[in-house]
Amino acid sequence: MRIFDPHVHMTSRTTDDYEAMAAAGVRAVVEPSFWLGQPRTSPGSFADYFDALIGWEPFRAGQFGIRHFATIALNPKEANDPRCREVLELVPRYLDKDAVVAVGEIGYDSMTPQEDEAFAVQLGLAVEYDLPALVHTPHRDKVRGTQRSLDVVRESGIEPGRVAIDHLNEVTVELVRDTGCWLGFSIYPDTKMSPPRMVELLRRYGCERMLVNSAADWGRSDPLLTLRTGEAMLAAGFTEDDVDRVLWRNPVEFYGASGRLDLADAAEVDAAGDASGPTGEFAGNSIKRGGA
Ligand SMILES: [Zn+2]
Repeated sequence: MRIFDPHVHMTSRTTDDYEAMAAAGVRAVVEPSFWLGQPRTSPGSFADYFDALIGWEPFRAGQFGIRHFATIALNPKEANDPRCREVLELVPRYLDKDAVVAVGEIGYDSMTPQEDEAFAVQLGLAVEYDLPALVHTPHRDKVRGTQRSLDVVRESGIEPGRVAIDHLNEVTVELVRDTGCWLGFSIYPDTKMSPPRMVELLRRYGCERMLVNSAADWGRSDPLLTLRTGEAMLAAGFTEDDVDRVLWRNPVEFYGASGRLDLADAAEVDAAGDASGPTGEFAGNSIKRGGA
């Protein structure tokens, strides 16, 4: 099984996670810029973070044979902090970079006027830079947040097929299904979506435009839940081709719209093959002497 995790915050994960992901068949990831938990107090902190997302983190991933791409944005939560507003002027500089395959995560946290503005401005940047957009839907008041997100997407004029509405569930899937946007689902260990619930949604709605991610970060999460979802699909009677579509070809198609998704070696791996461990290559190399 080859896996592309279209939403995972590797900055918050350990080297052991990379190793386990590589062994599980994860060959490519997209790391959206997001809220780090500790509030940032100046745009400079964001610049360093964005640099890490296109520099250090791809290097870390590369030690395990994993391709790493990023999405860049001022996240909804910190859009509310006036000290972070200047980040909106910083974002365009990063949207020119080869490793950046979308604008994101944008969207709503608490649905404030400040979030409205940051969301609309950054959808405009996605149009201007001809990039897809990754839209985070709020964990509270999800239905209203999803509806309002779809309104803002519509008003922006961005082509719906270049937008992924993420963190959907059984309730919000219906709102997005007929909009032409991609449908993102984050599989979590105990709350929200689980592999069996995801399989049920795939059975009901099919595999088209469906994106499955672990959204693993600094909270309770598990970067192997993409694999677990693939396993649950097979156990439920989906074919290996279905699994490959959901866990590989769909994210490739969505982020491929950026024109920057270079998967030259990663894509050669045969769909049914198991993880050919890159372990020999990285054993004893520079990741171990990093020591940061
Ligand atoms: Zn996220």
